[in-house]
Amino acid sequence: PLAANDPKHIRVKLVLLGDSGVGKSCIVLRFVRGQFDPTSKVTVGASFLCQTIALQNSTTVKFEIWDTAGQERYAALAPLYYRGAAVAVVVYDITSPDSFHKAQYWVKELQKHGSPDIVMALVGNKADLHENRRVSAQEAEEYAEKIGMFFIETSAKTADNINQLFEEISKRLPQRQS
Ligand code: GDP
Ligand code: MG
Repeated sequence: PLAANDPKHIRVKLVLLGDSGVGKSCIVLRFVRGQFDPTSKVTVGASFLCQTIALQNSTTVKFEIWDTAGQERYAALAPLYYRGAAVAVVVYDITSPDSFHKAQYWVKELQKHGSPDIVMALVGNKADLHENRRVSAQEAEEYAEKIGMFFIETSAKTADNINQLFEEISKRLPQRQS
């Protein structure tokens, strides 16, 4: 048996879902490489990246990140990525009400077909574009609270709240060894 102060290593399958263009790939790139590339390419199918973070209690969390394509023609593939995922990050763009509605569609999909103990986060990205904001933080927060999911606004461009997003997710994981 492990002593209380032994390091723990947790491996987590995480899937990103949301409309095309909301910034999913940029969030992953910012988190994994610390970069923002404004000319980033559209994701085809899905891409896979890993990043490990250390928590204060000597736990490390290795995120195995599946970044999906938002295009309609890939929608049928989404279950392949969210099935078995411990974490789903549903992203919208704060300047796009359509993308917020699409996020709600993904949440319903996850509630129907995802793992029952999946940790869900709602992310309003492009927070740097606050002058063009069309989805209020309060509306999103109220929606997330109703569902019981974690909510945060991020900017992959400025890096605002990107690390916080993954740290907050880590805190909400069921504490399993793997
Ligand atoms: P995805 O289709 O959800 O993966 O979206 P991408 O990550 O490919 O980003 C789509 C577009 O939004 C790109 O032109 C990015 O440069 C831009 N973008 C992504 N994140 C941000 C952000 O936080 N702020 C701003 N201003 N633009 C962003
Ligand atoms: Mg992408």
